[in-house]
Amino acid sequence: MKKLINDPADVVPELLEGVALTQPGVALLAGRTIAVRADAAQAAPGERPVAIVSGGGAGHEPAHAGYVAEGMITAAVVGGVFASPSVDAVLDAIRAVTGPVGALLVVKNYTGDRLNFGMAAELARSEGLDVEMVVVGDDVALAGAEGGAGHAGRRGLAGTVLVHKVAGAFAARGADLAQVASAARRVAESVGTMSVALTGATVPGSDDAGFDLADDEVELGLGIHGEPGVSREKLAPADDLVATLVERVATDRGLSGGDRVVALVGTAGGTSPMDLAVCTRAAARAVEANGLRLERLWSGPVMTSIDMVGVSVTLLRVDDDLLAALDAPTGSLSWPGSPACGVPTLRTIDVPAAPGSTAESGEPDARVRAAVDAACAALLDARDDLDRADRHVGDGDLGSTLARGARAWRDDPLDDSAPALLRRLSSIARRDVGGTSGPLYAILFLRAAEALDDGRSWPDAFRAGVAGVRELGGAEPGDGTMVDALAPAAQAADEGWDAVLEAARRGAESTREGTSSKGRASYVGDRAAGYEDPGATAVVLWLEAVRDSLR
Ligand code: ADP
Ligand code: MG
Repeated sequence: MKKLINDPADVVPELLEGVALTQPGVALLAGRTIAVRADAAQAAPGERPVAIVSGGGAGHEPAHAGYVAEGMITAAVVGGVFASPSVDAVLDAIRAVTGPVGALLVVKNYTGDRLNFGMAAELARSEGLDVEMVVVGDDVALAGAEGGAGHAGRRGLAGTVLVHKVAGAFAARGADLAQVASAARRVAESVGTMSVALTGATVPGSDDAGFDLADDEVELGLGIHGEPGVSREKLAPADDLVATLVERVATDRGLSGGDRVVALVGTAGGTSPMDLAVCTRAAARAVEANGLRLERLWSGPVMTSIDMVGVSVTLLRVDDDLLAALDAPTGSLSWPGSPACGVPTLRTIDVPAAPGSTAESGEPDARVRAAVDAACAALLDARDDLDRADRHVGDGDLGSTLARGARAWRDDPLDDSAPALLRRLSSIARRDVGGTSGPLYAILFLRAAEALDDGRSWPDAFRAGVAGVRELGGAEPGDGTMVDALAPAAQAADEGWDAVLEAARRGAESTREGTSSKGRASYVGDRAAGYEDPGATAVVLWLEAVRDSLR
């Protein structure tokens, strides 16, 4: 498994340095994998506010070091990848940031974390420090699986981050240890999380992910250490998968009609921001479909499992008090919320209307209309071939791009004068085609229409259009673009259609030599050599169709 790391043994200290270099106010305890707020560690003990100490295995970034900041946690104790830190490491962290007002340990419910943090808390107390501990088990997937309330099964998941946020906000406003601990407990007792994954996680130095899934399978109800979930299901649309997560959390946590909740949609680490955004939308809808009042919606990588692809949904019932703590500012760059978030509302604003067209209509030109129909039909037929050709030199979408325009014409054609038809093609190119071809074809047709309006000939109009393409795109003949087909064709326009086609074909053929220096093909460099530019191929295709139609 490829990873962007150095020695697997160095991943944890190196990632912590990366965090400390970017997260304001974070320092590392020398020779330890512990991140602390520098201001707290350097303050005289008597001036330290209540400290929040958390942590666990590495591999959950940005948890926990990314949350070391004013308004969240004071220290993050980081173990090996997916492995709890030692008793002594936790004790080092407690000693580094705890003053007479004490510390709260926020611990995810895993046996190793409970034991190491628990033992460290006891030792710290024996040193005279006031230390309390809150264990978070927000996992709803294991509900009832291992013998009722208090069983070891409910794991600490992304909901832990909400505990950090609330405890940190209370500490920041000067609450005492009992108040901070009680706020943290309130969140820990009511928060619920469940996740879905498309892949397992691969730990550094290992060849394989923790589990394998078929292409059409997902795993439901996972922990955060790369272990499989409680069930394996068929892949379904994001809306359905996320709705299942929301429903299971809401049911388990006894959330019902009218309850005020916040939702946190987290990525497992390898999820694309695109998929996450789709799932976030799905979560908002599912929360509302369950009759709950969605007060806040956040999303991002909050508690990851290295490179696992998947999302989690966390729901927490809130009142004004908790909401204020969740909204309070924090210096953490990894907390996905902001005081400005507010109640999620999807706003849409109407597109401003285009000014009415001043172009004149005229006598319908049936020959040109038929030629446009033929050109569009040819492009629709060639869609897959052009996409395939574009895969060698570009991003593989040229056929689909041009087909969008051809379809727009076919679905709503026009009977009008030649310049009016060209203007319609230009506006279709602008609106429906997109990519690089869209604006280039838009100017081709617009300049040609203007030339015809001025009473110039078709060959002149063709040349004016091609000049527009060269002006806008900046490509010269020889750069390996559609200009290589268009420019010689326009040059030959006075000599009849066969000369036009011959020139276009030869120009397109010439793009096989050398590499394109403009457009996408320029990015793939020598890999494009030997392939005809698909934009030039497309020019030949539609010119042929136009010629055949006019004959
Ligand atoms: P993209 O996907 O890169 O946005 P398209 O797939 O719409 O672009 O179009 C790719 C084609 O556009 C290329 O095959 C080439 O013929 C043409 N092209 C790219 N850049 C230019 C340019 N600067 N001038 C003229 N044609 C260009
Ligand atoms: Mg393309």
